[in-house]
Amino acid sequence: MKSLINANPRDLRQAVTLAEQARSNGRQAMIAGGGSDLLGMVKERIVSPDMLIHLKSIKGLDQVTQAHGAVQIGGLITLDTLSHHPLILRDYAVLAEAAGSVATPQIRNAGTLAGNVCQRPWCWYFRNGFPCFKAGGNTCFSFNGENQFHAIFGGGPSFIVHPSDTAPALVALDAKFRIVGPKGERTVPAGDFFVLPKQNAARENSLGDDEILASIELPAARAGMRSTYHKVLDREAWTHAVVSAAIVLDMDKDVCRSARVVLGGVAPIPWRVPDAERLLTGQRITPELAAKAAETAVAGAKPLAKNAYKVPLTREIVQRTVAGLAART
Ligand SMILES: Cc1cc2nc3c(=O)[nH]c(=O)nc-3n(C[C@H](O)[C@H](O)[C@H](O)COP(=O)(O)OP(=O)(O)OC[C@H]3O[C@@H](n4cnc5c(N)ncnc54)[C@H](O)[C@@H]3O)c2cc1C
Repeated sequence: MKSLINANPRDLRQAVTLAEQARSNGRQAMIAGGGSDLLGMVKERIVSPDMLIHLKSIKGLDQVTQAHGAVQIGGLITLDTLSHHPLILRDYAVLAEAAGSVATPQIRNAGTLAGNVCQRPWCWYFRNGFPCFKAGGNTCFSFNGENQFHAIFGGGPSFIVHPSDTAPALVALDAKFRIVGPKGERTVPAGDFFVLPKQNAARENSLGDDEILASIELPAARAGMRSTYHKVLDREAWTHAVVSAAIVLDMDKDVCRSARVVLGGVAPIPWRVPDAERLLTGQRITPELAAKAAETAVAGAKPLAKNAYKVPLTREIVQRTVAGLAART
């Protein structure tokens, strides 16, 4: 394995400067949160950075704070801490449940929220060294290959699915991402952070060179807000979603004021289904309406040769999760 430098910056500004300096010297620096994905990729020679910039050396980037109702979550919070945090559990259950559904206790103890959101795809072609779009090539091997777990929405030219469980929850909650980079800070709605392969086939998000996801803001919780995360796996534990649904309902007694329905495991980005949301808005959610919303949610699906099973699976998950959440008191 090639040797690399481990850098432990004091603050985000220094982390960005280190990344910029490495780039201007023709070297590659990569950002490490918990390292649970990145170190595996280094070991497997999927990436070969000259420098790892460890954000865990920066103090205070793992806190949950509240101001004027909105909640700030430091990007370095571990998934385990997030999944047990009393405020997140009470007001943003979809995020606590999504974080608690990731991988294994060991990975949740090391893995961070920002690292989970920014993790690279787990497509077996990319992870096994094929020169696909994600590795800088110009082919998606899944299209004519083993595409059982690939995209049924938004695919092309790459057909990966976004691997993060917390990402659909953050889009459903209408979170904002605070990004720090060479030009200072910027804030991006979660829904605009993730990019489709047709926008940029090599990347999954809109982070520019040397930019760091610093923290995430959740809007103030409203009375009547209910949320949940439903994840289907192909085995009991340790793995990414085959299909998932992050649902947020804003209820006035039994009438839905607004709804956000975001799917995971089915598209290269967290996949929001506005038509299904519109059907639910302003209505009493009956099992029949939930079924109609679920039918609408899969209306535009374009399955590949081996993943058509995801269409009825997604429909069922949306129907059950929406109906179950609406029936809660
Ligand atoms: C066996 C196994 C099972 C898994 N199952 C699941 C699962 O069910 N659900 C799921 O969601 N995930 C799953 N994962 C992925 C796991 O969640 C990630 O490894 C973890 O969340 C990454 O967090 P980290 O802090 O360790 O990231 P790192 O490994 O440190 O980084 C991951 C990527 O994000 C980038 N990055 C990290 N922090 C930042 C930042 N602040 N700003 C910009 N870029 C950054 C890194 O450069 C790297 O490319 C699984 C992983 C394994 C190994």
